[in-house]
Amino acid sequence: MKTFIVALQKGGALVPASFELITAAKEIGGEIITVILADDAAPLAQELASRGAGKVLAVSASGLAHLNEEAYAKVLAELIGRETPDLVIGPATFYGKALFGRLAAKVGGAMASDVSKISLQGEQLVATRLQYGGSVVADVVNNADKPFFVTVRPKIYPESQDGDGEVVSEAVDEALVEAGSTVKEVKVESSGAVSVTEADVIVAAGRGIKGTENLPMVNQLAESLGAAVGASRAVIDAGWMPYSAQVGQTGKTVNPKLYIALAISGAIQHLVGMRTSKTIVAINKDKDAPIFNVANYSIIGDAFEVVPALTKKFQAELKA
Ligand SMILES: Cc1cc2nc3c(=O)[nH]c(=O)nc-3n(C[C@H](O)[C@H](O)[C@H](O)COP(=O)(O)OP(=O)(O)OC[C@H]3O[C@@H](n4cnc5c(N)ncnc54)[C@H](O)[C@@H]3O)c2cc1C
Repeated sequence: MKTFIVALQKGGALVPASFELITAAKEIGGEIITVILADDAAPLAQELASRGAGKVLAVSASGLAHLNEEAYAKVLAELIGRETPDLVIGPATFYGKALFGRLAAKVGGAMASDVSKISLQGEQLVATRLQYGGSVVADVVNNADKPFFVTVRPKIYPESQDGDGEVVSEAVDEALVEAGSTVKEVKVESSGAVSVTEADVIVAAGRGIKGTENLPMVNQLAESLGAAVGASRAVIDAGWMPYSAQVGQTGKTVNPKLYIALAISGAIQHLVGMRTSKTIVAINKDKDAPIFNVANYSIIGDAFEVVPALTKKFQAELKA
């Protein structure tokens, strides 16, 4: 078994899900090869090697500073052709999913997206994923004689903390890095804010918060818990919060330790993006709201009374 990990970086820092992929590869066993593409990949490759990433291919080029799917797919397809892995894994983040669809098509392998477990059953690799809004658990196998491309849902596997590895600098043909488009700059939407895909705790707001005038209430609860702020699509469509906060089928898939759904009804398109959260707390004034079907803790009440009370309690705990 040979697993090829595509580690990703953002702004020169490794995406934490990269370390989770190492754990997934270790659990499968066999040879591990990891690749990192950046303008200066060497220090990132060193960090990956110290966390047990096996042979780490460091590919440096100025055109690889930002994730450009076309350039990245060309470089990765070349390396995969050289290394001939059985399995290619990457993070099921926004960028990871966009890259892997293109990459699998380029190499001609089968693809399973947003997988929650990869296992070896006999000789067969099995990727387990939720389908149809989480109502079906599917085991996906690869029948092609090409590598199996799998994106792994963040926050399922713990980060690999240590292990062995060696760094190998890989030179790539400049022509491979050239693409029809160039990413010149990436602007971070709000500095310092934790992204919902990386957060351990998320406070997500729904249409029931009624308007932007009530966002401070949501933000204060999030601050008291060190949480990221997410939202349902209704909130995004109303223009109350940026698209980057949207959780669900057409937004982000999240898997935090704690998800607090605040005045969110629990439409299937929302549930599909958050139902694997470890603990779900739902606050809704409608006792029949579908969100309560997936909640571990249900608070039936008016958000405008419950949220300030919770915030006060958490702030007091923080001070104590
Ligand atoms: C193709 C497609 C893709 C979609 N993708 C997504 C997606 O990615 N993410 C997503 O979220 N949705 C998505 N949707 C939309 C989805 O179907 C729902 O319309 C949306 O999730 C509803 O958002 P909401 O729960 O905030 O609003 P509502 O359904 O209007 O629910 C508001 C809730 O707030 C409660 N409430 C009101 N006032 C209070 C109060 N004072 N205190 C406590 N509770 C209160 C109400 O009881 C209600 O349950 C998609 C839809 C389609 C068709």
